[in-house]
Amino acid sequence: MLTEPADGEEPAFSQSINLFRRGQTVFPGGVTRATVDKDPNPIYMSRGEGAYLVDVDEARLLDLNNNFTTLLHGHGYEPILEAVSSLLSTGTCFSNPTKHEIALAELLTSRIPSVERIRFVNTGTEAVMFAIKAARAFTGRSAIARFAGAYHGAYDWAEAGQNGFEAAPDGRRIARLGYQGAPSAVANDVLVLDFNDADALEEALTVNAERLAAVLIDPMPSRAGLIEPAREFIDRLMTVADRHGILVIADEVLNLRQSFSGASARYGLTPDLLVAGKIIGGGFPIGAVGGSAKVMAVFGGDTRSPMVSQGGTFSANPVSMVAGRIAMEAATPAVFDRLEQQGVRLRAQLTATARKHNAPFSVTGAASLLRLHPKSEPPRSFAAAVQRPDELARMRFLCRFLRREGVLLPHDAAACLSTPMTDMDLDHVADAFDKFLTQHSFASQEAQP
Ligand code: PMP
Repeated sequence: MLTEPADGEEPAFSQSINLFRRGQTVFPGGVTRATVDKDPNPIYMSRGEGAYLVDVDEARLLDLNNNFTTLLHGHGYEPILEAVSSLLSTGTCFSNPTKHEIALAELLTSRIPSVERIRFVNTGTEAVMFAIKAARAFTGRSAIARFAGAYHGAYDWAEAGQNGFEAAPDGRRIARLGYQGAPSAVANDVLVLDFNDADALEEALTVNAERLAAVLIDPMPSRAGLIEPAREFIDRLMTVADRHGILVIADEVLNLRQSFSGASARYGLTPDLLVAGKIIGGGFPIGAVGGSAKVMAVFGGDTRSPMVSQGGTFSANPVSMVAGRIAMEAATPAVFDRLEQQGVRLRAQLTATARKHNAPFSVTGAASLLRLHPKSEPPRSFAAAVQRPDELARMRFLCRFLRREGVLLPHDAAACLSTPMTDMDLDHVADAFDKFLTQHSFASQEAQP
């Protein structure tokens, strides 16, 4: 059902409403991916310009989503446009390899310490799937452990546990499956753990060692709260996994953007396999699974047939390879430093603003990533990050307000910066948040919008 804009104050999005009406006649739910924000209706974009989006009603919005953190350099980054434009006339996909895939692979293996060999695919979902298959083939075990609430894409075993678990009468945790009808056997092979709980992790890995192929970890899971890992937790994970021959898979599809060498390097994690995506495609579809030469040999050695067959019609297509290389070449240590400083500053501004108004909002994140929570204290666990209906309503209310102030903020996932953003752009975000809290009093934690 189409929801008309609430409060009667948003005639500006009228072209989007018309398009949504058309979308509803051809797409289930009116859109083509579950993650599209439909509150109060999807906003259809006409174009992107650097740090900004322009919607079909010509409203300009500072883009703090950047296609779910993909666009490190924002929209229409000139060097990528030039390189891709000149490539297009030479062909966009072949069944043969090209030099472009080697160039991007060389760049990534030289930067990311745990990646000696790499394979390219088209999405993060696919890359996580192949990493899990690789760990299974390497260890001869089928189960994986993962952390409650973390998003790892749509492979059944990666999806189970994304929404937590059910407690069985005997206290065991049964991973919640992604959809009704998902094979119940999937739950048997997915252990759901709590992020940053080192003792419980050690116990679960020890008890289940013989059946565990891997621990799948996003170093700062966005949907589980965008909470940084504790050093002790990372150390224990590596020690215990190593003791039992369990591989560690770091899912850095989102968090590779934390530093020049990614997130694992930042937090002292040395995974056996690392999954990347988003920023390494420069705005084009991509995923990658990399790791030690020893483990990656499951995808192919010189003499024997691969233990895991990894194909993909569009894998390593030259457009994604070239765009990714240009994007990553431009992402120098100095660029990451600047993004980091801007992230630190914006998070501090937003936190100070919430405190000044004694308002139930808090901030988590690191580097160029942040999440605003409709909660007085920054959550320290997935359970604490889950939004109650009144909190969700407050967050949606804020996002709508910010949109009217020209800022696009995701309401339940990581927001992020891009290199074309100026300090003035970010000050505007903080000012708009201040204006929101000035106009709407939330001094009492129980206040409703
Ligand atoms: N893992 C993580 C950590 C992600 O953030 C995402 C995408 N948001 C995925 C996997 C899946 O990637 P894709 O959407 O490219 O399939």
